[in-house]
Amino acid sequence: MTGLPSTPDVRSLLASAAQALGERIDAELLLLHVLGKPRSWLFAHADERLDAAAIDAYAALVQRRLAGEPVAYLTGYRGFWTLELEVSPATLIPRPETERLVELALERLPLDAAASVADLGTGSGAIALAIACERPQAHVVACDASAPALAVAQRNAQRLQLPQVRFVQGDWLAPLRGERFDLVVSNPPYIEADDPHLAQGDLRFEPRSALASGTDGLDDIRRIVHDTLDVLKPGGWLLFEHGWNQGELARALLRQAGYASVFTAQDLEGRDRVSGGCWSAA
Ligand code: GLN
Repeated sequence: MTGLPSTPDVRSLLASAAQALGERIDAELLLLHVLGKPRSWLFAHADERLDAAAIDAYAALVQRRLAGEPVAYLTGYRGFWTLELEVSPATLIPRPETERLVELALERLPLDAAASVADLGTGSGAIALAIACERPQAHVVACDASAPALAVAQRNAQRLQLPQVRFVQGDWLAPLRGERFDLVVSNPPYIEADDPHLAQGDLRFEPRSALASGTDGLDDIRRIVHDTLDVLKPGGWLLFEHGWNQGELARALLRQAGYASVFTAQDLEGRDRVSGGCWSAA
C-alpha cells in the first residue's frame, strides 16, 4: 500500500496521493479513472467517502504510477487538441508540442474545399483526427506500420465520429504509392538511438519504434523527406515534427531534396519543433 488513509474522503485521499506522486493532476486523473467520473465531479464531492474496492483500485494505480508507468497508459486516455484520445502502450502518448504541427497543417488547408492529407505514423491517430475534426471536407488517410496502433486509431475515429479518415497499414509512404496529396504530415521517431532519455521517465514505456531513429535520430525523417516527393501534388506541403536541435538539419534535408519555401517553426517553449517545405514542380 501507498500510505493512503484507510477510510478517507476524496479530499484527503487526493492530498496524500498528490504528495506521494508529486503531481496533483496525476492524482486526480487516476482517481477519476477509478470512479469513472469527469473532472468536474471533484468540485462538489471533496467530502465524499469512497468504498474499500475503489480505494484499493486507486492505491494499485498510484503504486504503478510510482513505479513509472505513464498516467495516460494507466487511464487509457490523453487529451490532444480538442479531442480525448484512447492510447495504449502500442502508441506514443500525444504531446502538446505536436499541436503546433496541427496548427501549421490547418494554415495550409482551406476551410471550404476538399483537400487530401496523409498522416504518416499516426499512432493513436492524434494528428489525423485533429485535422479531420477541423476540416470536415478534407480526405485524410492515416498510416502506421503497427497493426495494434492502427486499431487504437480506428477506435478513436469511431468514437469521435470522424468516419472520413481512412486507415492503411504499411511502412511510411509504401501504402500510399500512386496517390497524390495536398499535404503530408508526420510526427516520426526522431530521438538518437543512444539518447539516455530513452531509459528515463515515460519514454521507457512507449514504443521504441515510435521514438528512436538511428544514430542521429534522422533515419526516418530522411526517408520521409525523400519518399514524400513521389506523392505530393504540385504546390503540396510536407510538414514534420523533429527534435529541438534538428531544425537546421531538417531544413538542409528538405532543400537538398528540392523542396521550396523551406521553414522551421518553434513550439510554445520557443524550441525548433516543426519543419516543412513545398513541392513546386516548376
Ligand atoms: N517529442 C517526443 C519526446 O522527445 C518524441 C516524439 C517523437 O519521437 N516523435 O519525448
